Amino acid sequence: MSEAAREGAWTGGCQCGAVRFRAERLHDNAHICHCRMCQKAVGNFFAALVGAPRDAVTWTRGRPASFRSSGPVTRGFCARCGTPLTYEREGSANVTLTIGAFDHPERLKPVTQDGIESRVPWFHDLVDVPDEGPTESGDFIPLAAEIRRTSQQHPDNDTDRWPPEGKG
Ligand SMILES: [Zn+2]
Ligand SMILES: [Zn+2]
Repeated sequence: MSEAAREGAWTGGCQCGAVRFRAERLHDNAHICHCRMCQKAVGNFFAALVGAPRDAVTWTRGRPASFRSSGPVTRGFCARCGTPLTYEREGSANVTLTIGAFDHPERLKPVTQDGIESRVPWFHDLVDVPDEGPTESGDFIPLAAEIRRTSQQHPDNDTDRWPPEGKG
C-alpha cells in the first residue's frame, strides 16, 4: 500500500445527507472484504472499503454514530438513515471508508480482496447473473419515476444546505 497515493478532493456521505465527509488523500488500497463481520456490517455479500490517513478526513456535515464490533474495531454509520460509513481500528493513524458512500465509487476500483474464508461460494458467478436492464425499464417505469420525484437521497456532490427548502 502506497501512502497517500490518491490526492485530491474525495467527497461522500450517507444516503440521507446528515453525514458528509471529505478526504484530501486516500490510500491506494481499495478492496473488498468478504469476512463475516463486514458482511453483517454492510448487509451485503462483502464490504467495499478504502483507507485514508485520519488527518486527511474531515466530517463536513454531521458525524457518524458508531458500534464497537470488537475490542479493537469501531464501525461508523449514519444514525438517521443507517448507511455504513467507516471501519476504524483503535490507535490507527488511518480510517477506512465504505466505497459505496463516495460520490464517485466508480473511481475506486478494488485492487485486492480479503476475508475470503467467508466469500459466498458463487461469488465468481455474479457477473453471469442475467441482466434485467436499468432501473427505469419495463413495468417498473411508473414506480421508478415516483421514486425519482420523491427521493430523499442526498445528491452525489456537496450541498450548501440540506435538505433543500420545501423538501424533507
Ligand atoms: Zn444519513
Ligand atoms: Zn472484513
